[in-house]
Amino acid sequence: MTHTAHMPVYLDNAATTPVDPDVAAAMAACLTMDGVFGNPASRSHLYGWDAEERVEQARVEVSELINCDPRELVWTSGATESDNLAIKGVLLGPRARGRHLITSRIEHKAVIDSCRWLEKQGFEVTWLTPQANGAVTADAVAEALRSDTALVSLMSVNNELGVFTDIEAIAAVTRAADVPLHVDAAQALAKVPIDLAALPVELMSFSGHKIYGPKGIGALYVRRDAGLALEPQMHGGGHERGLRSGTLPTHQIVGMGRACALAAEILDAEIARLRELRQRFLAGISGLDEVRLNGDAERGVPGIVNLAFGRVDGEALILALAADVACSTASACTSATIEPSHVLRGIGLSDDLAHASIRFSMGRFTTADEVNYAAGRVVETVTRLRASFAGSPRRGAR
Ligand SMILES: *Cc1c(COP(=O)(O)O)cnc(C)c1O
Repeated sequence: MTHTAHMPVYLDNAATTPVDPDVAAAMAACLTMDGVFGNPASRSHLYGWDAEERVEQARVEVSELINCDPRELVWTSGATESDNLAIKGVLLGPRARGRHLITSRIEHKAVIDSCRWLEKQGFEVTWLTPQANGAVTADAVAEALRSDTALVSLMSVNNELGVFTDIEAIAAVTRAADVPLHVDAAQALAKVPIDLAALPVELMSFSGHKIYGPKGIGALYVRRDAGLALEPQMHGGGHERGLRSGTLPTHQIVGMGRACALAAEILDAEIARLRELRQRFLAGISGLDEVRLNGDAERGVPGIVNLAFGRVDGEALILALAADVACSTASACTSATIEPSHVLRGIGLSDDLAHASIRFSMGRFTTADEVNYAAGRVVETVTRLRASFAGSPRRGAR
């Protein structure tokens, strides 16, 4: 498929992905009278039993993608809720080792704001600064650990940079210190292999809509033998073993399960294909000078490219591209305030460079034609904006 004539090429797959048609079909079968619409908690009739069966089948599908026991998964409304439940759940829980937690400056706002809220309640947070490539090191974690550290929370793939954190090395450190490790894996699930049988992580957050499933569904992995006692953040009917009350949304859950099953089938091929698309995009814009790659070319997911364009304002570039290419400034999540991204500042970028940065993220439905087209539009637009800037007194990026 070439790009649709009147819609811009979609290169914002790190913000959200379209639901795979296969997933949508599975979801549609769980909504209407002739489908599996029952309440999975209804124990007294076939409608409820059927719904429960679908929910449990989806739990198996998710667990198979990450190699854990299905009973270790708690359904939530998304990675935001999973992050909240993991972080507040541990720190406010009865078995917390202390009132100190460790995280980094480049986490998703769901983690940062949960930690900030805890700070306001009197908990102590160590905010690690990553290296210039966006990586938080195991050494930095080891140095920050204290006898009263109750949790370490770090993401496995950064949503703005695409950079991997070395979770394996960090998990070795936290496990040796007997401190639980929470990993926000919203950008890693279905993008890179995850093996929770081999990885000594205690808690992991996932989201449906980053993996061609629906919005409004996610999961939290809670390791069974870790002895965690999470304080629930939602009280009610005691669903999900009391950890997350609320009627289970069968269609959403089935969608997330199907999305994981699909991803498992094509994971390796998709990694190779996205790597090729990324190379194609970078080659397509290689004629532009003063382009800087934010993050690390060697250690990231293949679908995300974050670039700073010298002598161009990022917001102006996004607007000029908007009719042709849908991408985002790295500060998209906080664009109401046009603050430079906390992630780019966290890795030491100047405000100017942060404002000149754009994230392009490719996905399952991105084609080579679309990437060629987008790269061409970027080259043309940057060149034009630079030429018009050159004549103005405020030359350069802000
Ligand atoms: C998208 C995202 C979230 C939030 O997930 P929702 O399901 O939208 O709540 C959290 N963390 C990371 C790294 C993300 O990319």
